[in-house]
Amino acid sequence: MQTQSEARVPELNPAQRAELAPLYERVRDVIPEVEWAVHAPYIAEIERLKRERNAVILAHNYQTPEIYYGIADITGDSLGLAREAAKTDAGVIVQCGVHFMAETSKILCPEKTVLIPDMDAGCSLAESITAADIRLLRERYPGVPVVTYVNTSAEVKAESDICCTSSNAVDIVESLNSERVIFLPDQYLGKWVASQTDVELILWQGACEVHERFTGDELRRYREQHPGVHILAHPECPPDVLEEADFTGSTSGLIKHLSQSDARQVVMITECSMSDNVAVEFPNIDFVRPCNLCPHMKRITLPKVLESLRTLSPRVEVDPAIARQARRAVERMLEVA
Ligand code: SF4
Repeated sequence: MQTQSEARVPELNPAQRAELAPLYERVRDVIPEVEWAVHAPYIAEIERLKRERNAVILAHNYQTPEIYYGIADITGDSLGLAREAAKTDAGVIVQCGVHFMAETSKILCPEKTVLIPDMDAGCSLAESITAADIRLLRERYPGVPVVTYVNTSAEVKAESDICCTSSNAVDIVESLNSERVIFLPDQYLGKWVASQTDVELILWQGACEVHERFTGDELRRYREQHPGVHILAHPECPPDVLEEADFTGSTSGLIKHLSQSDARQVVMITECSMSDNVAVEFPNIDFVRPCNLCPHMKRITLPKVLESLRTLSPRVEVDPAIARQARRAVERMLEVA
């Protein structure tokens, strides 16, 4: 793994220091001063190179605050990032997220250069299923439509009828007007969607290695330790966790819920950095912070983003025939959503 010392950056000049000061004021509760001193020169240099390369940086809600607030032009969940990728005029997209997200950008913007700062930023869900698995399922359940979560490879999307994200999964399933739907690959998201609709779902055994670690017992302990705490959970969590939560939603759904809630103490049952990023937007809420990190998301660092912009690599490529097929499934989702 690359270290900060491998990607050297010039020291900040006084003008850059002054320019970055308001940003630090905003994030000082979630980034200690000693860490900011290391991050700030990278942020300044990345901003300079971004302009030079006509690049746009997309960052998922699970990226660390120095990326999310420091260098990102667009932040959001998978659906939000996919939509923005489709709209951008920039010639280069740097995806601060995991590989399937960069592939989705490439699928929607085949003519653009799409970079991912670390090619090994994978996802346990995306790795749980292959295109061949879907072909077998279609043989077993002829005529049953296939809905695929966006956390999948381009090859898997290409075999699907339509994609979904956790924010639109119920609407997408119901949009097909079918009594049965094959829903892949997250078993827990699938169980949650099944609880919200009359459509019968055929599920796969995939899981997110971050969300499946939470347990209902853990949530009950938070309630004992923090009486009155408001618990929000992502639908990739197991059913006993969702039963214990006060609200279930996608990352963008959780943020929207907070903006409409008068809760004073909150625990977010999702990836660790999400609470840090949201805490900046909601300074009056006290966040209890269990920390389940996604090791794949955390492969993306400022030095790697800088190196990626300097070298315009590693590039994400998708076979054009697969990209065409996959684009149909993603665009169909964007139309419904
Ligand atoms: S948090 Fe889970 S679903 Fe998201 S990238 Fe990491 S392993 Fe995949």
